Amino acid sequence: MQKKNHEQIKQEFHQRQTHQIIAIAIAIFVVMLCAVMYKRPGVLGEFSKAALFSVQIATIAVFLVFTSYNWRCPVCSKSLGTDINKRSCKKCGTRLR
Ligand SMILES: [Zn+2]
Repeated sequence: MQKKNHEQIKQEFHQRQTHQIIAIAIAIFVVMLCAVMYKRPGVLGEFSKAALFSVQIATIAVFLVFTSYNWRCPVCSKSLGTDINKRSCKKCGTRLR
């Protein structure tokens, strides 16, 4: 494995963090949109409750898959857990910021 310097690690972590924030924003937006359409049918067209529910489940599933790929330590590739503002990797102790 190639050794990365701290600058590269910070940069890669920042990129992963940005992707993660975008993914969270999209996931929340889609789930909320479905909830609004569920409560107020006719606002953006008619959709069945089952279809809206499927979209929500699919969005969460895609989000979780994306997270498991993206939200990893740039050095040891272990999952970074739920903290979006992580300072260091719990597994290998690398400073991420
Ligand atoms: Zn690590």
